[in-house]
Amino acid sequence: MSYEGPRTDPPHSRRPRRSPLTVALAALVTGALLGWGVYEAVGDGGPGTPVRTASSPAASTAARETSPSGPAATEDGGRPDPARTASAPAGAGPLRGRVVVIDPGHNPGNVRHTAEINRSVDIGTNRKECDTTGTSTNAGYTEARFTLDVAHRLRALLEEQGATVRLTHDGDEPAWGPCVDERARIGNTARADAAVSIHADGSAPGNRGFHVIMPGPVHSGGADTRAIVGPSRALGERIAGHFLHATGEAPSNYLGSGTGLVTRTDLGGLNLSTVPKVFIECGNMRDSKDAAQLTSGAWRQKAAQGISEGIVSFLRESRAAGGSGRTAGSHGR
Ligand code: ZN
Repeated sequence: MSYEGPRTDPPHSRRPRRSPLTVALAALVTGALLGWGVYEAVGDGGPGTPVRTASSPAASTAARETSPSGPAATEDGGRPDPARTASAPAGAGPLRGRVVVIDPGHNPGNVRHTAEINRSVDIGTNRKECDTTGTSTNAGYTEARFTLDVAHRLRALLEEQGATVRLTHDGDEPAWGPCVDERARIGNTARADAAVSIHADGSAPGNRGFHVIMPGPVHSGGADTRAIVGPSRALGERIAGHFLHATGEAPSNYLGSGTGLVTRTDLGGLNLSTVPKVFIECGNMRDSKDAAQLTSGAWRQKAAQGISEGIVSFLRESRAAGGSGRTAGSHGR
């Protein structure tokens, strides 16, 4: 979860049951997203159009097993389709030269470092706690474990296409955090073409679905998101569309009016970013139906696939437009 402050939609607006109007709107927007996904499939190497061709199943399997990032999936299944995840030699692939920073929300070690993560840091608009422990399912599967697992799967998918991938932390390295301001700084220093922070929410049972959080315009103290609001929205819309298509999970029924898209100006990890960046809340760990998905390795592989395809779509678009994916204002910071 991303409870670094009040949400755009205050808690009292979250209705356990949606009105018919909201349901209708959600259906409409979901249809629009699906329609958009179909458009993407035709024009942008979307579903059904392998991003690159496998040299051979054997070769791709061997390369996966020797990948420095480790296997793309774990014990409980969810191995990616070889046709979509053929490995690329280092420095090759359609994402060669592109930099993606993946930020696994929270850190499994945070629970043992409460003093460190509770200190406050400057997020431009105000001060916030360095980091939080995150949420968990009722059975105790933690958000920090979830985000790290999805991050590893996502890294493997992006590296197989040639991208340079950096994680803001990797579980025990560092032992806690990093703080939200440092998480943003890592993306900025890497001059990332895209950055994504992975989370799962801790909302009330009955609240279901995913949502992507995009930065709103902030210009205060050390925060200036004005140059990244546009590209971050483009990134967020693509990730939402592909996530929906890959997982079949509906957009949030409690935030974003059925669009799966939410804008916030209170998150340090977004406020301090100078590169296109979004958060994704992949589901609600406190809802039993969502939790059943979040705890499935096969489902997490689909989630990583959807996020990866959204990033690829965004990077292709930014390259086709003649840009690097960065905004002019992000250079040199
Ligand atoms: Zn979180």
